[in-house]
Amino acid sequence: MAAASTAQPSAGQAGWREQLRAGGYRVTPQRQLVLESVERLTHATPERILADVQRTAQGVNLSTVYRALEVLEEVGLVTHAHIGHGSPAYHSTSQAPHLHLVCGTCGEVSALPAEVAVPFVEEIRRRTGFRTDVSHVSLHGRCAQCAGSAANGGK
Ligand SMILES: [Zn+2]
Ligand SMILES: [Zn+2]
Ligand SMILES: [Zn+2]
Repeated sequence: MAAASTAQPSAGQAGWREQLRAGGYRVTPQRQLVLESVERLTHATPERILADVQRTAQGVNLSTVYRALEVLEEVGLVTHAHIGHGSPAYHSTSQAPHLHLVCGTCGEVSALPAEVAVPFVEEIRRRTGFRTDVSHVSLHGRCAQCAGSAANGGK
């Protein structure tokens, strides 16, 4: 199964139905609910998505959510990143490519435009030929607040 690796900003509004059909999948209420939940929550695990979806559709269970996420990811509507130690977190591909900064103290996840990592990614590629998918991973550390002060950067 070749995943749709050419992420295009086409997930917005109406396009997602066509994207599902183009991938050979039907548009179902469950897939719609899961997609909406991913877009609303950003960086939610399947468990959190389930809790969100269950507020409107009680019959949905975790395996339904996993299957929907798999399909949505295969057609390129959502993607995941490894943020915590548990399940991956999902975000919509309509978001611009970004880096995930995860604070180990307060747990906050913030996003930074992927361009920030370009020199790093280019250097890796120059040295090894390796193409890094920075949005698939996360950088762990401490946020400005937990580290003391934002202005601490220079020291
Ligand atoms: Zn992964
Ligand atoms: Zn993300
Ligand atoms: Zn923090």
